[in-house]
Amino acid sequence: MKYIFVTGGVVSSLGKGLTAGALGALLETRNLSVRIQKFDPYLNVDPGTMNPYQHGEVYVLDDGAETDLDLGHYERFTSGSLSRANSLTSGQVYEAVIAKERHGDYLGSTVQVIPHVTNEIKSRILKGGEGVDVLITEIGGTTGDIEGLPFLEALRQFQLEHGRENVLFIHCTLIPYLRAAGELKTKPSQQSVAKLREIGIQPDILVCRTEYPVSMDMRRKLSLYCNVPANAVVECRDVESSIYELPLALATENLDELVVRRLNIAARPSDLQNWQDVVRKLKFPTHRVRIGVVGKYIDLQDAYKSVYESLIHGGIANDCGVQIVRLASEDLERQGTKPLENLDGILVPGGFGDRGIEGKILAVRHAREQGVPYYGLCLGMQVAVIEFARNVCALDDAHSTEFSPGTRHPVIDIMEEQKNITEKGGTMRLGAYECRLQPGSHAFAAYGVDAVMERHRHRFEFNGRYREQFTSVGLRIGGVNPRTGLVEIIEVADHPWFVGVQYHPEFKSKPTQPHPLFAAFIKAAMKYKKGFASVE
Ligand code: GLN
Repeated sequence: MKYIFVTGGVVSSLGKGLTAGALGALLETRNLSVRIQKFDPYLNVDPGTMNPYQHGEVYVLDDGAETDLDLGHYERFTSGSLSRANSLTSGQVYEAVIAKERHGDYLGSTVQVIPHVTNEIKSRILKGGEGVDVLITEIGGTTGDIEGLPFLEALRQFQLEHGRENVLFIHCTLIPYLRAAGELKTKPSQQSVAKLREIGIQPDILVCRTEYPVSMDMRRKLSLYCNVPANAVVECRDVESSIYELPLALATENLDELVVRRLNIAARPSDLQNWQDVVRKLKFPTHRVRIGVVGKYIDLQDAYKSVYESLIHGGIANDCGVQIVRLASEDLERQGTKPLENLDGILVPGGFGDRGIEGKILAVRHAREQGVPYYGLCLGMQVAVIEFARNVCALDDAHSTEFSPGTRHPVIDIMEEQKNITEKGGTMRLGAYECRLQPGSHAFAAYGVDAVMERHRHRFEFNGRYREQFTSVGLRIGGVNPRTGLVEIIEVADHPWFVGVQYHPEFKSKPTQPHPLFAAFIKAAMKYKKGFASVE
């Protein structure tokens, strides 16, 4: 069993998660089994309670763990599916240590960061990697942060205990370009490596984020000051058009070869065919569509990360470039639906809280009435139901009880099991549930199977009381949960492609395995665009 730890220096947002993911992808192409996990130094038990401004998207796993969006990168780049054991925060570490202390497990000792907290962290490294050849652990935050120290200390101990031949450190760092001096600068990297060495960690490989090529001279300088062999200074220049070029870019720099040599792993050479195909389809697509994403956190890069990625994957499946047009639902409330013209498809993603809800309902109405392909995810399905109730069934004040607790027509209502829950963290309907598909539906056609498992994260649901009333005038139930009877998929029968799902399919799409519904949505958008072109 081999362990790789990925740390970051100088600044945050260096793309450590992508580096970890891309390395995982490369190792998998060498026939190694890989798992990737994230340690985050903040004190929240999980990111489930943080808002998107703080933390971007909350990524949900099959087992219901609410995790950092980097876990999304890991699942998209590698084949494995991750579990709760692959996401650890300081909050969880302290929660576990304090629970043990109260239980009497440490009876007699003073409970301290070393060894109790560090032991807890080390035990989670072992647990996270059970059953695979290589475990990659990314440490969130930046070297030098006070909060990160217990994690780094645990890693130092881990290498001592498991042997240098089994444990490798990769440090991701920034090589800034100073325009005035016309130079790339190595000093910040020298200093962040010095910080690591102070703790007793010597990185084996430096991954250097840079906008410009890192010259041989520069590599030698980094090598000398950071005590890393010159061939282990890896340049990671901003990729041209897509993050999925990263495995290829890092392979050119021999990253995977450096890793297998240093860890003495007997592995076949890498086979990059799949990733080359992905990149070729992304760069030179035959078709193009414009998809509008109507959301609340539209100006944030990361709030709908997996949705944007999955749309791109849907494009890959159809040899189609997807241009994503981000639309703030509140703007639609002010300006009307003009910004929706010229779109080949409209997607409303998940969300919470009533800000911008009416704008989303406007977008749904436009899509339904104009025959534009519509794809609603979680809240996007709920607003589609509200729109249908109001404008097709004339239930004027139909709403979700999330936004209008006293509505006369609660077409979306809180789930029975959610009614008595008062705590916020980890209490929604979370994780994978089965959905039985209805033959004849778009969903059934897209998936091509009878039943699927999809991930959930919500408190409200389709109110079954209205089922008959809606289906009698053209709403189609595309799938239900066989155990509870809860409606999982709604479709508008008399429409080219109108699908709302109560779950989050965006958490199960990969560039190498695009999610069937995203692929079908993009296909419908291509068809819509074509129909339009021939009318013109
Ligand atoms: N706010 C809605 C609910 O809790 C939808 C949640 C979501 O879109 N993830 O049911």
